[in-house]
Amino acid sequence: MGRGIMKPFTVHFGTMGSAKTALLLMKNYNYAVDKGKEVLLLKPSLDNRSKKGFIESRVGIESKALEIDKKTNIIELIESLENKPEFIMVDEIQFFSSKQIIQLKDLTILDENPITVDVYGLKNNFKGNLFGEEDGSMATAFSLATHLDPVNCLCACGNDAHNVARFNPETWEIQKIGEEIKVGGNESYVSLCYRCFKEDYIPRSTRIALIKDAISKNINPIKKEELEKQYSIENELYLEEEIDYLRNQIEKNEAKILELRAKSNNHK
Ligand SMILES: [Zn+2]
Repeated sequence: MGRGIMKPFTVHFGTMGSAKTALLLMKNYNYAVDKGKEVLLLKPSLDNRSKKGFIESRVGIESKALEIDKKTNIIELIESLENKPEFIMVDEIQFFSSKQIIQLKDLTILDENPITVDVYGLKNNFKGNLFGEEDGSMATAFSLATHLDPVNCLCACGNDAHNVARFNPETWEIQKIGEEIKVGGNESYVSLCYRCFKEDYIPRSTRIALIKDAISKNINPIKKEELEKQYSIENELYLEEEIDYLRNQIEKNEAKILELRAKSNNHK
């Protein structure tokens, strides 16, 4: 006895800067443009970092998307559309409510034309907990997933980054308490591995990249001068650290050579 088809509900998750959005846009391109499928893109209206009505990636690609606020009933929205989508791809799923995530899941078991749903989002908040401290958005997404797709990203120390840290750009101090979503503050975020996150450590090369980025945004001239000073100090320290590291390696190798020579002499 048939109980009707169920389509996949895939959660693609990672940290900030892990190119989740670029992956979404490439998949959309492949499905909608190459294969001519009916794809609907959704994004939260809360996301004010990108252009209104578009999903855009830092790598320079974008596509039109419907903006959804927390009050929208997504099932009703889909029913009201003239062209019913075959696929729905959602960016920044962590900003949707648990109720809306369940609505997205329920679209995969519609009696008529069930929809394949792909959602992309941040796994952790800056405290290191699953995102969605208000109503458990990411816990809901994970519990409903038929497929999980980790999107990897590197910490500057070389380990895989699985955490997002919030820090004060003036002091580099990592903050682990406060509101999950802060609007209009002067906090910044960076993706770190568990070790760096746990030790409250922002790798120097990350700091240098962040300062360079701030300089290029050219906020104000006084600030710029300060940043440039900071940039040269950090760069100097970075080089010194690299030299120390290499010197250390040389010393270790020299000690090893002496050890091997001694062994070789004993054998004679
Ligand atoms: Zn690290």
